[in-house]
Amino acid sequence: MRVPFLDLVAQQAEIADEVLPVWQAQFTSAAFVGGAEVAAFEREYAAYIGTKHCVGVANGTDAVELALRAVGVRPGDEVIIPVNTFIATAEAATRLGAIPVFVDVDEQYLLIDPAAVAAAVTTRTRAIVPVHLYGQTAPMEELIPIANRHGLAMVEDAAQSQGATSTLGRAGSLGRVAATSFYPGKNLGAAGDAGAVLTDDPAVAEFVRNFGAHGSSVKYVHDRAGVNSRLDAVQAAVLRAKLRRLDRWNAARRAAAARYAQMLADVSGVRVPASRPGNEDVWHLYVVQVAERDRVLAELGDAGVGAAIHYPTPLHLTAAYAGLGYQEGQFPVAEAAAQRILSLPMYPHLTMEQQRFVVDSLERTNVPERGMAPSQLVREAL
Ligand SMILES: *Cc1c(COP(=O)(O)O)cnc(C)c1O
Repeated sequence: MRVPFLDLVAQQAEIADEVLPVWQAQFTSAAFVGGAEVAAFEREYAAYIGTKHCVGVANGTDAVELALRAVGVRPGDEVIIPVNTFIATAEAATRLGAIPVFVDVDEQYLLIDPAAVAAAVTTRTRAIVPVHLYGQTAPMEELIPIANRHGLAMVEDAAQSQGATSTLGRAGSLGRVAATSFYPGKNLGAAGDAGAVLTDDPAVAEFVRNFGAHGSSVKYVHDRAGVNSRLDAVQAAVLRAKLRRLDRWNAARRAAAARYAQMLADVSGVRVPASRPGNEDVWHLYVVQVAERDRVLAELGDAGVGAAIHYPTPLHLTAAYAGLGYQEGQFPVAEAAAQRILSLPMYPHLTMEQQRFVVDSLERTNVPERGMAPSQLVREAL
């Protein structure tokens, strides 16, 4: 048996009968950029997340950048970003000339740490970008008061959390504005690059639509020098079909996560992920922690299990951000986690037999005892 890290072929097969006729019609009528299909998806996705507006853009990185611009982040402004995220979150700030200010994550969920955020605020801080990592929702109930106290814009990076909910509501509807990515591997993925910005604020939505269309709302009337970042109709067709299945697919991920937790309960040395109280996670990734992670990862690969690391290098230690002057040791939680995190195969069509194979393979790597299950941690804490 082989278990891939992600199986997109099964997803595509489920939607083919619905999408291919739409694509055929689009090809025939040459309606490729914007148009009715894009408008329909934007309406449906806004309704799903619970925001008044959704603006489709070309990819998730653009979505974060346009969201930051829309709330008034300017060159030289500081933007607080967790150090354990995909680099795109920080690139979006860098690309508009803002300065990413990195903060550590919490030990249990590896989400942005509110205490670290509060400590990082300066007079130049303009925005906080909580990342709803791995399909969780960041601790917004603690972050929102910090943003309000200092007059900062809350810009959610919801690329990994499509459908996730917290006690406050759905991820992507909890800030001034949210950005998401429909990269094929996300919970809601296109057949190529795509993204969106979500907001209740009509001015923010209008800015993003205008800036992403060459600073233009009326053809050849350019209010500002913008960029080209629009959603293609062919992608909207795929996204509409997948959105209709998203709740079912997320439920399948949750069931798979519950099965992993059960199967891994007997495997010592593997620390399994937990959900924050009140959160309903959508398990974009299933991230365990083990000692000797690199050996375990290599042996899983040899056994036919596609595992991965999200992310191997905290952003402050990447070559890309060496120039910001951070030091090794500055973000001890993220740095320690980066040595231990291991993402196991996770997707809606993952079967129990595949999971059994993953867990058996993991057991055969002789995971050292040092990785602890949360239940053990709780017992030690008591
Ligand atoms: C995927 C991702 C992005 C960027 O999305 P792209 O569509 O690849 O540009 C941004 N932030 C996070 C957390 C992501 O996982």
